Amino acid sequence: MLTTRTIADDILELKEQRKAIVLAHHYQDSEIQELADSVGDSLELARRAKQFDGDVIAFCGVWFMAETAKVLNPSKKVIVPDREAGCSLVDSCPVEQVREFKKRNPEYAIVSYINTSVEVKAESDILCTSRNAVAVVNSIPAEQPILFLPDINLGNYVKKQTGRENMKIWQGACIVHATFPARRVVAARTEHPDALVAAHPECPPDVLRMADFIGSTSAIIDWCVHQSSQEFIVMTESGVSHSLHRLAPEKKFYFVANENCNCSECPYMRKNTLPKLLACLENLEPTVELAPGIIERARVPIERMLQVK
Ligand code: SF4
Repeated sequence: MLTTRTIADDILELKEQRKAIVLAHHYQDSEIQELADSVGDSLELARRAKQFDGDVIAFCGVWFMAETAKVLNPSKKVIVPDREAGCSLVDSCPVEQVREFKKRNPEYAIVSYINTSVEVKAESDILCTSRNAVAVVNSIPAEQPILFLPDINLGNYVKKQTGRENMKIWQGACIVHATFPARRVVAARTEHPDALVAAHPECPPDVLRMADFIGSTSAIIDWCVHQSSQEFIVMTESGVSHSLHRLAPEKKFYFVANENCNCSECPYMRKNTLPKLLACLENLEPTVELAPGIIERARVPIERMLQVK
């Protein structure tokens, strides 16, 4: 019987030839997640990239994640299917403004969310992800003032959780999570009265107030899978539905459209496609190129974060 060769077959073959690993964020298309060696959130993928001992890391996520992989494993070639896979949080936080703040406020500890450029990471004292942000802030001496950047909603959530008053928060936002309107969550709860609400901390405070659970992407998946409830309203990027349906096929998951694209997909994450993944494995570009100096400086706050339990 004749079988038709697919683009997935070509990618898997090329992956072997290149001694490559494919890492995929939960917000990637299902077909990319299916092919990946590891699927995870920013923290999980950073740890995986650090441990990899092959030649090429094909990072299916956004650019700042690939930069983090390069910093943690600089001898590897790190490629991304689409160079335009950016992030509104990175764009909201230019390094010049961070340097200016540091010059004027040298007493502040700079706590940066991983969703920042490598240059901003290099100016930071410690990094955090949505999973460990509370623990990271708690690891800083109580009397030291903090600048938390760049996500305003995550910053406010962390400030509330830690009770930290001496914490300034940058005014950046995620175009996906920050534009989920509370009224649509109310409508979804009316339509699905038995559903529990799980929300990412990048969502606005009025959405978080309605949540039964607040956590990172992986924490949301884990919580939904292990709850006895059968229905969930999931306030994050809808790419997580792939893992949710795989891990809990009997449960129902509802996603709420945001004001920005009237969907719950990240336009940056969705720039990566299977044909672009194949092309980047063939051509070994776009490649993350970083000067040794910036790698050295950015690694320090990332490693500090990885030490925080
Ligand atoms: S979902 Fe938001 S935070 Fe994540 S990459 Fe997209 S714009 Fe950035």
